Amino acid sequence: MTGTTASLPRQGQDIPETVAALRASFDAGVTRPTAWRRRQLTALRSLLRDHTSAIEEALYDDLRKGRTESHLTEIGGVLAENEHALRHLDGWTRPRRAAVPLNMKPATARIHPEPLGVCLIIAPWNYPLTLTLNPLIGALSAGNAAVVKPSELAPATSALLADLLPRYLEAVAVIEGAVEETTQLLAQRFDHIFYTGNGTVGRIVAGAAAKSLTPVTLELGGKSPVFIDETADMIVTARRLAWGKFTNAGQTCVAPDYVLVTQAARDRLLAALPGVITEMFGPDPRTSPDYGRIVNDRHFRRLTELMAEGNLLVGDVCDAAERYIAPTVLTDVPPGSPVMSQEIFGPILPILTVRDVHEAVDFINARDKPLSLYAFTRDTTARRALLERTSSGGLVYNAPMIHLGVPNLPFGGVGESGMGAYHGKASFDTFSHRKPVLSKPTRPDTLRLIYAPHTSRSFAL
Ligand code: NAD
Repeated sequence: MTGTTASLPRQGQDIPETVAALRASFDAGVTRPTAWRRRQLTALRSLLRDHTSAIEEALYDDLRKGRTESHLTEIGGVLAENEHALRHLDGWTRPRRAAVPLNMKPATARIHPEPLGVCLIIAPWNYPLTLTLNPLIGALSAGNAAVVKPSELAPATSALLADLLPRYLEAVAVIEGAVEETTQLLAQRFDHIFYTGNGTVGRIVAGAAAKSLTPVTLELGGKSPVFIDETADMIVTARRLAWGKFTNAGQTCVAPDYVLVTQAARDRLLAALPGVITEMFGPDPRTSPDYGRIVNDRHFRRLTELMAEGNLLVGDVCDAAERYIAPTVLTDVPPGSPVMSQEIFGPILPILTVRDVHEAVDFINARDKPLSLYAFTRDTTARRALLERTSSGGLVYNAPMIHLGVPNLPFGGVGESGMGAYHGKASFDTFSHRKPVLSKPTRPDTLRLIYAPHTSRSFAL
């Protein structure tokens, strides 16, 4: 555990005072040395290891996440991101030489990454550990101070982070709370705001940031489509689809939202899905230790209303008392139905039939740019059509969601699904300014060629 160099106000204290204390630490140069950054990442690793059981309990309390799922999608992922940052920190922080054109020589040019200052990280509830700590790893690697605002809808994880982070990390403050506290935070001056959540609040964050021209990263959501055709390996496709959709009871930003299956593949997909769902969660998913619950009553009501249209293939069992919704698959869903007009963010999988990949491309392009696009096909023409004729935050062939586990791939949205990206080096870049530094000797004074009075020789430059 590390000591605290910033004299931060205790939790629950004044927000402007907290931000001012962090800024004082940053201005004093506390966070700049690579050794300081390394110490923070090492301390974060210790935090995760020392308090694994408490984290598992908090995730269970908030979302009924099973222990294995918590490791796969939260604790393990954050540890991996942290190790990646530790391994590459020296390389990332090193200034890069840039080539100088002949007419500028003699001179040396470098790109010098520098921290931005005090960053604000606003996190959502669905992966309350990962989506708070992964951006923080980027902010710390880049040498920033940070305020972290976990989601009030995951109160157990929020309270745990508020307790643990200040005990392990220097120049990091946690402000718990909801709209009121976030609004107060957004009234402060930050050097970067990193927001993950829905687009409505994303607009509020971007609007507040615009007042002080603060740069923002917006990690938003949307409807991530899945294209499946007759060349797909159907049993593996069904398994991966069910895993992607029903993990965390569908409350994943990159979960497959809906399926566009070709007519020729439809029957085989529908035949495979019920069996793989039972394989994963048993005949009664309510009793499965691996199946989660809906975060709150509002989302539970919203989701049950979305089941009104389409034919039921699997599911339709709900229990308001437990906020349980069984894995549900709907077929022949009208494209204009409510389940197709908003991000589902729950365990309901609508399946629509298309003629071919071209109809799928048109369908996708008629809607907002998704956060992820998934395609299960061996057909290279179909793969190329999806790659070249659609735009999405990411594109994965033959598996949903796993691109998040590749730290060398920047993760982020495009259009309505967000702006900016992070993970691995992309996180470091997001929280850094790439400062160009040019140094030119005074002798020989080659710039004489461009001083007035200008002659025809000036054109030679
Ligand atoms: P949420 O309700 O927890 O809100 C996110 C954050 O915004 C919270 O910290 C909350 O306190 C704050 N907030 C809420 N209302 C606010 C307001 N009026 N003013 C200021 N701050 C406010 O989470 P959510 O938005 O329901 O999260 C789900 C959404 O997030 C989905 O759309 C999902 O796709 C998206 N998401 C995206 C990613 C990604 O990485 N791109 C990851 C997870 C979730």
